[in-house]
Amino acid sequence: MKKHFETEAIRNQTARTQFSEHSTPLYLTSSFVFENAEEMRASFSEEKERNLYSRFTNPNTTEFVDKIVSMEGAEAGYAFATGMSAIFSTFAALLSAGDHVVSCRSVFGSTHSMFTKFLPKWNIETSYFKVNEVDSIAGLIRANTKILYIETPTNPSVDILDLELIGNIAKKHNLIFIVDNCFATPYAQQPIKFGADLVIHSATKLIDGQGRVLGGVTVGNKELMREIYLFSRNTGPAMSPFNAWVLSKSLETLAIRVEKHAENALQVAAFLETQENVAMVKYPFLKSHPQFEVAKKQMTLGGNVVAFEIKGGIEAGRIFLDHIKMCSLSANLGDTRTIVTHPSSTTHSGLSEEDRLSVGITNGLVRVSVGLENAIDIIEDLEQALRFR
Ligand SMILES: *Cc1c(COP(=O)(O)O)cnc(C)c1O
Repeated sequence: MKKHFETEAIRNQTARTQFSEHSTPLYLTSSFVFENAEEMRASFSEEKERNLYSRFTNPNTTEFVDKIVSMEGAEAGYAFATGMSAIFSTFAALLSAGDHVVSCRSVFGSTHSMFTKFLPKWNIETSYFKVNEVDSIAGLIRANTKILYIETPTNPSVDILDLELIGNIAKKHNLIFIVDNCFATPYAQQPIKFGADLVIHSATKLIDGQGRVLGGVTVGNKELMREIYLFSRNTGPAMSPFNAWVLSKSLETLAIRVEKHAENALQVAAFLETQENVAMVKYPFLKSHPQFEVAKKQMTLGGNVVAFEIKGGIEAGRIFLDHIKMCSLSANLGDTRTIVTHPSSTTHSGLSEEDRLSVGITNGLVRVSVGLENAIDIIEDLEQALRFR
């Protein structure tokens, strides 16, 4: 019988070997051996379920995938080298030339590049709706629309999309509903409950949680996962057993880490709301968040990312970053170390102001990925940096 979240994360484990090890060993092997020709035949024809080659499955990747499947309430899954390879392989496996995608415009930067630069090479078009214009989705759907795609909370502006509402639109129009659940983690939000067919994670973020390895995973409906698996085992985006071993260990502490991340993030958000130099703070579990009620409906915790608007626009954001002492300036998020970014002067400085605004990146927007340091020290660093203007 399925146990509680934390128990599954710890006790869902590869079978013990003859060495009676307590912790799952690392299976660094590219292939597996067979007793005889008949066993090899039966294995390759899938009459017998077992490991053949680590591009297909490996005990470490299977353990990692099994945990995510259990956490998300999914039926099957596959582990990828990165979050982007999970996203790209999922789309490539399910779409054909001439198909159409409807997606929220507020998606991860490389996902946006996939939609606008690469999928069009195969005659696959994407129509965007804005995060606050969910009513326009139905009007974007065409006869050839196959996938409805969202992220929630969104990066970097921490907006919330209503999973149940959008899930119902997908169901009504017979679309595959795919959710990038990276910011929430399976501990705080399970999109399948609200109608998602597939859930994708960049395991690089809170799932690793310690800024060490890259990874991605797609889980969900059995039939869809079968197509994704067959595509992937032939085209080769598999996660390495080493990364799977690291990530499966990370999952053992996901619940306790995410609890603490969210506790720290709420304290940071509440502090920022008191600051004179701060025009606006966005965190899903702050009452002032425009979609607070939706966040409460679909999330059990608000996650670890806080966005805020510093008064004084681009220049104020640059000055703030330059005076940060302890927190890191880095493009990653979901690390034990608190990370501060100012998208309009750094990662998104190449976009026009209009393009930035269309994804909620105002000139003074600062994103804080709140880590696991003591909240008092995080707040002290932010407070001293906010004093410079
Ligand atoms: C980082 C990220 C990705 C991409 O994951 P990688 O592991 O870096 O390839 C996709 N979606 C979201 C929301 C992310 O934050």
